[in-house]
Amino acid sequence: MVTRMLFRAVIMGPPGSGKGTVSDRIVKNFALKHLSSGDLLRTNVQNKTEIGVVAKSYIDQGQLVPDDVITRLVLQELHKINETNWLLDGFPRTVPQAVALDKAFHINSVIDLNVPFQTIKDRLTARWIHPASGRVYNTEFNPPKVPVMTD
Ligand code: AMP
Repeated sequence: MVTRMLFRAVIMGPPGSGKGTVSDRIVKNFALKHLSSGDLLRTNVQNKTEIGVVAKSYIDQGQLVPDDVITRLVLQELHKINETNWLLDGFPRTVPQAVALDKAFHINSVIDLNVPFQTIKDRLTARWIHPASGRVYNTEFNPPKVPVMTD
């Protein structure tokens, strides 16, 4: 019997550290499935699932979704892709989430993006998010096709 070694990685870093961009580059070059907890939540919000309805009230207030809700959702999704290599982005964000992940899977690698605070501040100042799709723009290097309206 041949057992295949599966590679499980987590990417961490504060908002604006480039987790999404770096993840996209990694999955383009390596056979990994990228799972983002934020994207997963947005899909659930859009589809108005039970979890999506609960999550929306927290996301709209800029709060973290409760640990039990997000942990159930992410672990369930990871079990669905159990046979693949994966890169997890946005989870864990709290100690209970990390403990739950550690109990469920063996993580091979953690990528921690270490970006100077001023760089993050500059990036976030220029960052715009389209709430409906979650698409992220940057007025400096990736502006939205339709100009931003401010009042
Ligand atoms: P993100 O796209 O990763 O910035 O996530 C968007 C929003 O989803 C966050 O502001 C949180 O409200 C929620 N969220 C994503 N991941 C988590 C997590 N691991 N734990 C709690 N809330 C999360």
